[in-house]
Amino acid sequence: MSDDEDAPSRSVEDRLRELAARMPWTNPSAPSLYIGGGWIDIVARCHADLTTIDPDHTVTQVKQKFAELRYYATPSANLAPRALHGFGSRIRLAEIEASLACERCGRRGRLRNLEWLGVWCDEHVPHPDGS
Ligand SMILES: [Zn+2]
Repeated sequence: MSDDEDAPSRSVEDRLRELAARMPWTNPSAPSLYIGGGWIDIVARCHADLTTIDPDHTVTQVKQKFAELRYYATPSANLAPRALHGFGSRIRLAEIEASLACERCGRRGRLRNLEWLGVWCDEHVPHPDGS
């Protein structure tokens, strides 16, 4: 049996880099993806669906702010009204999903107000001593 079977999966940094490389940044030289590992799948699914709805959209920034996912994307100019509505709704869905998902691991979490706001599961709540 090889040791690889127990090797941790790819690092959060690698997964973020891979996702960022696939996204249509408004400024391709400055991808701006600042989220925890627990939200990567949420953003990746949103990106895939937005690409289906509007292949020519661009993304300015995706980040966590005050414990919420902020997904700043611009639809293409010629998008039909119905698709435009779907575009906005899909982003809102990702924001709602993130509000229920631990930033660290993606499991069910809840909003907590420590010294800063965040969404964490019971296991990943930061401790007051910084651990
Ligand atoms: Zn967690």
